[in-house]
Amino acid sequence: MYGFHGRLLQIDLTSGKSSQHELQESRLRAFLGGIGLGTSLLYDYAPPGVEPFSPDNPLIFTSAPLVGTGLTTTAKFGVITKSPLTGFIGDSLSSSHFALELKRTGVDSLVITGQAASLVYILISDQKVEIRDAAHLRGKSPNETQAAIRAELNSPTIRVAAIGVAGEHRVRFATISNEGRHAGRGGAGAVMGSKNLKAIAICGDRVPLVCDSDGIAVIATRLRQRSLSSLTDKYRNIGTVANLAVFNRLGVLPAHNFQQSTFDDAEALSGETLSETNFARRHGCASCSIRCERLFKSLNGEEQRLEYETLFALGPLCGIKEPEAVLQAARLCDQYGMDTISTGGTLAWAMECAEKGLLPEAQNFGLCFGRPEGILSAIPIIAARQGLGALLAEGSRRAALEIGGDSSDWAMHVKGLELPGYEPRGLKTLALGLAVSPRGACHNRSGAYEADFSGEVDRLQSDSGRGALVAASEDYAAVLDSLIICKFLRKCFTDFYGEAAELLNRVTGWDCSASELGQIGERIQVTKRLFNQREGWRPQDDWLPPRLLSEALPTGVAQGVALTATELKEMIRGYYETRGLDENGLVPLKKLRELELFKPPADGIKSCQATKHDGY
Ligand code: SF4
Repeated sequence: MYGFHGRLLQIDLTSGKSSQHELQESRLRAFLGGIGLGTSLLYDYAPPGVEPFSPDNPLIFTSAPLVGTGLTTTAKFGVITKSPLTGFIGDSLSSSHFALELKRTGVDSLVITGQAASLVYILISDQKVEIRDAAHLRGKSPNETQAAIRAELNSPTIRVAAIGVAGEHRVRFATISNEGRHAGRGGAGAVMGSKNLKAIAICGDRVPLVCDSDGIAVIATRLRQRSLSSLTDKYRNIGTVANLAVFNRLGVLPAHNFQQSTFDDAEALSGETLSETNFARRHGCASCSIRCERLFKSLNGEEQRLEYETLFALGPLCGIKEPEAVLQAARLCDQYGMDTISTGGTLAWAMECAEKGLLPEAQNFGLCFGRPEGILSAIPIIAARQGLGALLAEGSRRAALEIGGDSSDWAMHVKGLELPGYEPRGLKTLALGLAVSPRGACHNRSGAYEADFSGEVDRLQSDSGRGALVAASEDYAAVLDSLIICKFLRKCFTDFYGEAAELLNRVTGWDCSASELGQIGERIQVTKRLFNQREGWRPQDDWLPPRLLSEALPTGVAQGVALTATELKEMIRGYYETRGLDENGLVPLKKLRELELFKPPADGIKSCQATKHDGY
């Protein structure tokens, strides 16, 4: 087999045993790697109905066919588990040297199950697995953990992915971090913490053969050249923080917990201003020619990585206008290992509760819109689950259910995952994308907003045709996330499916066509829905928070524009129709057969929801 090892390593932390299993080529061709492979493995390895913090919930790391080929932006890996925030699929990507090293371990995936009796870390080196005591690493940040493990092993280049204090305390939006990058959304770090697993340290020297290295080199050169052209100007010039000023101008910058759609102090926080006043340096993931990362300097001279979502969530969403406060809050989130979007979303919810007299503890704590001290004091207590922090560590949906009143109306989430920094009322294709996304309010598993921003559709109007746009965008994202290629390279393809199929074939020796690749994207998406259905998804889970459907856009150029429940329902109907789902959003048997997701047992099948597919 080319491009893959064809092996999976399962590590059971309860028994301390590990075993290798074959990964059949048919499964790899059906799901590729990254998010696709992880989705397929989660379906098979997670017992139906498993609790996210149960030892039986698998924590799955996946590599992908393009990793390690030298192609720009492909040094990435997937982390897939049942999310403790949503109860559905939690699929994240992270990047850089850990991804390259994972590929060299000689397996395509790690499946970690069980729970260690005390805090441990896993060392995978020279094809051996060791489970080591990590008591001395308790309380350390991911960076400190990496430094300590490197010193202990006398190995300055060993790659480490670790949780911080938030993961140790099962904060439901804890991250798994490596080299300043994060498997960020959905709480994979909390699952890792529930297994008493502080870190995974890896080094290896096994690289799978590729079928046509000369052919890959030609394409790699072409893509690299394109990646340095005007097609990626935004990412190379200012980075994603450039979004803030643009979104503000378009009236789609959520502020004050989505009570405003513009931010009065946007200029003070804009990427342009930050670049002038706080710029430290440009950085990037391993094997990347775009290098979109921007590090900004705090007053004390410390450098902090900042991207748009962090800037939005810890800035305008919480009414914070001081760049210094946002940089400090971002540093705390990185240090404790917490998703910045869910952290900002949950804090903004608490601020609104305090403002409306529902959460006096938050008010006493100083959690008010626009007050930096409040968020800077709150982040550490969330990470440690102390006092009010124990409530906020549950995320906005659970916290709202706990305190009751109208507070659920102000919890801005889909399926329990807090909303990213795009205002759905002014980006109606995105609104649909968020509502139906299997992992909750996610802007990464579909790029539905592109149709809105490109002018391809009227972003302030809706129609049932948006379903087709969202489905196509999800399939496209699924292929990118499974090959894996960074989304910031997407504009460098002129015929994405054709070029990506050629790339995949040169790596694997397959004869995958552009249309087969498209079908793989669809298969991955449908398998995510199948997983969610098995885990209790209901039609009302494909929906948006009440505020977005009851209040018109309050500020900005699109002030007064509303998104109604009828509009959303019609767009969802169009989406289900395009996807070939039934009117309740369930995956019918016909679709399973069409996507070869299912081998019918001899005695026939009554319901696809209850049926575990049995591989390829
Ligand atoms: S473009 Fe940015 S996120 Fe993508 S691989 Fe490069 S540095 Fe990483």
